[in-house]
Amino acid sequence: MNRKYYGKVIFELSKAGRTGYYLSPNGCNNALATLPTGLLRKDIPRLPEADEPTVVRHYTNMSANNFGVDSGFYPLGSCTMKYNPKINEEMASLPEFTGLHPHQPADTVQGALKAYHDLQRMLSEIGGMAEFTLNPYAGAHGELTGLMVIRAYHMSRGDNARTKVIIPDSAHGTNPASAAVAGLKVVEVKSLPDGTVDVEALRPLLDETVAAVMMTNPNTVGIFEHSIPEIAGMVHDAGALMYYDGANLNPMLGMARPGDMGFDVMHINLHKTFSTPHGGGGPGAGPVGVRAGLEKFLPGPRVVKHNLGDEDYFALDYDVENPSDSLGRISSWLGNFAVELRALAYILSLGKDGLAMAGPLATLNANYIKESLRDLYKLPIDRVCKHEFVFDGLADKSTGVTTLDIAKRLLDHGYHAPTIYFPLLFHESLMIEPTETESRETLDEFIAVMREIAREAAETPETVKTAPHDCPVGRPDDTAAALNPVVSFYEL
Ligand SMILES: *Cc1c(COP(=O)(O)O)cnc(C)c1O
Repeated sequence: MNRKYYGKVIFELSKAGRTGYYLSPNGCNNALATLPTGLLRKDIPRLPEADEPTVVRHYTNMSANNFGVDSGFYPLGSCTMKYNPKINEEMASLPEFTGLHPHQPADTVQGALKAYHDLQRMLSEIGGMAEFTLNPYAGAHGELTGLMVIRAYHMSRGDNARTKVIIPDSAHGTNPASAAVAGLKVVEVKSLPDGTVDVEALRPLLDETVAAVMMTNPNTVGIFEHSIPEIAGMVHDAGALMYYDGANLNPMLGMARPGDMGFDVMHINLHKTFSTPHGGGGPGAGPVGVRAGLEKFLPGPRVVKHNLGDEDYFALDYDVENPSDSLGRISSWLGNFAVELRALAYILSLGKDGLAMAGPLATLNANYIKESLRDLYKLPIDRVCKHEFVFDGLADKSTGVTTLDIAKRLLDHGYHAPTIYFPLLFHESLMIEPTETESRETLDEFIAVMREIAREAAETPETVKTAPHDCPVGRPDDTAAALNPVVSFYEL
């Protein structure tokens, strides 16, 4: 990073009257003269004035200030920041895909529709579901769509009193938010000390007012919910449905399928599990799968395959029939097509066997870090974890060094911080998800740094408490940044 440019906005690099180009007076630079005077603005806009090298250096240096999975290890729990193979980018950028118009007649885009249809089928196979819609734009959008499917199912049976969704206290924050947006009431169920749902606490909550139970498995503390079949039996007996939050499907790939465990509706975050670079709010896709019997409630359009003689023909179901039970549209066109193409490329390039290695490797990597640090960091749930796990800060609480301090000190070492203070089950949550794409050497280096920070906390705690020492920005006031963000250089 070039410090001369760091932290300045382009307006601060501006010099009045400076331009970034020279045009010879050949008559071409007189465009203004041809505009009707009524359309000309009265005041000169307050644009920065800078020479071209200054502009290029400013933006190039700014881009290098970003942290991404391509620049370093990114163990952000519950986010699955795994490496995204570049082949997926290449496939999604093929001009044969990027040059399409969504209004093109189906017979001119058979290849794209086949790709879309193939992904619908592959996700159904991976999830153990009958059918998938690829329309939703994100995990939370998938949750909302899935809950609307569940609501439509109950209403179609005249079962209109089912207005509650039961959600474990460990759930991702989007679960209760999506339920509320779907117009459903959230009822929380407690977890046991081992992080799994308390079946005995759930039992009395199940009655004819419950629409669904939403669960994440492995749950947000990375523990496999071993009572799912029992819970699914109870929930179905009570007339409600089982919703599976499959945002982080990594650990399940090749190991287990939500459909086989008794889940009725699920979503997958393609941007997490199926390899689309994400962060900062996008891009994403949250396809929703349903078991047999619920397909007709899915939103549209979906791509359907027709058999014309010995040729397949792909079409949008909305063009060929009127799916009257469908929710209708929850997105424009077919969803985030480029994200879907990346997922398809990822699945096809790994193949069934390659995909089946992702789950065990994600689990192995997480357990390797957990076991290598448990003498120095407090492990509140001492069990084999899946793709992620949670420490409750340092084991030695006498140093006064907090999870926030550890996260900040990791920045000095070139790591993205783990997820901190989530889940809310522990005071000093430090949630680590290494993902399956990291090498043994990367994990060992991270473990060594975490051990070094624990040693510093004991010997020179101020070093950790005042970190980061090596970053352009230290400890911004998070609350002020959220409440009073300054997003414009000029006061408007
Ligand atoms: C990330 C995540 C979500 C939300 O997904 P978005 O795409 O960010 O809306 C939901 N549940 C879990 C468990 C997650 O990790």
